[in-house]
Amino acid sequence: MKKRASILASLAVLGSLTTASTAALAEGEVNIYSYRQPYLVEPLLEAFTEETGIEANVVFAKNGLAERLQREGRNSPADIVLTVDIARLNELVEKDVTAPITTPILTQDIPENLRHPEGLWYGLTTRARLIFTSKDRVKEGEITTYEELADDKWNGRICTRSGKHPYNIALIGSMIAHHGEAETEKWLQGVKGNLARKPQGGDRDQIKAISEGVCDIAIGNSYYYGKMLDDKAEHAAAESVNLVFPNAEGRGTHINISGMALTKSAPNRDNAVKLMEFLTTEKAQHIYAEVNFEYPANPEVAPSKVVAGWGELNPDPLPLHDIAENREAAVKMVDRVNFDN
Ligand code: FE
Repeated sequence: MKKRASILASLAVLGSLTTASTAALAEGEVNIYSYRQPYLVEPLLEAFTEETGIEANVVFAKNGLAERLQREGRNSPADIVLTVDIARLNELVEKDVTAPITTPILTQDIPENLRHPEGLWYGLTTRARLIFTSKDRVKEGEITTYEELADDKWNGRICTRSGKHPYNIALIGSMIAHHGEAETEKWLQGVKGNLARKPQGGDRDQIKAISEGVCDIAIGNSYYYGKMLDDKAEHAAAESVNLVFPNAEGRGTHINISGMALTKSAPNRDNAVKLMEFLTTEKAQHIYAEVNFEYPANPEVAPSKVVAGWGELNPDPLPLHDIAENREAAVKMVDRVNFDN
């Protein structure tokens, strides 16, 4: 009991987000462990508290939340985890810290390919892994698929972050799902052979590298483009590229998700389920997707005008769960082709 109380105390120190009166305590509370940043999560939780009177407490962290949940075990105060990337959602499953939950609202709002088959996690937003191309040096339509990244004509012209980064691991995992391991490895070798420089930096750095003439095409997540346009220092770099939605005409563009999971120990389970259901509603989906230039996971909710203006997303319908299952194979493949060196 004592341990639980002290964990709750530290949660309180880290802060309750509610601007509504703490008299709302009568409605109870819900505790969130979040890998997602405060500016993304706070507007959502404020809306939730306003609607339900349930107070939402958040612990923000960059790393180690799955380990923390494991360590805290049954004493954990956390009810829900919010995170990005299928790999991180899957890590929660592998560490056995999430609980299955299905409700008619959750399974109706979130498509089957964007949630765990038993409800161990749900996607909330999607992001497309795009190809960015130089407006000056690459003609429109010159590259339209991920497969073409291995084409000789891009020799010395491609930039990307580490092959080991979860965003690229998920992309490679989707390639394995579509083409099998042998063919994907040949492809990855081809992409490596076309790199302009050793993989480095984040997705934004690749767009900057295009604007600096280091390379002509790059791989990156869609929302970074929006964030760069919004940033004075990075606006010009973003303006120097075109966006390609790879495989839009065929099997669809690879997407990843941000998502949520109910914890196994959830002390405020009912409130947690209310919050999960709230997060899939039109109102919350708008807020969540818009603030980070993402796509709502709920297909009934349209993306923001800005994001819609980038082109039409035809997402690859491959279940994210299948991509998660290819993670290990993808990591080993990146090592085998020595992608990062
Ligand atoms: Fe990111």
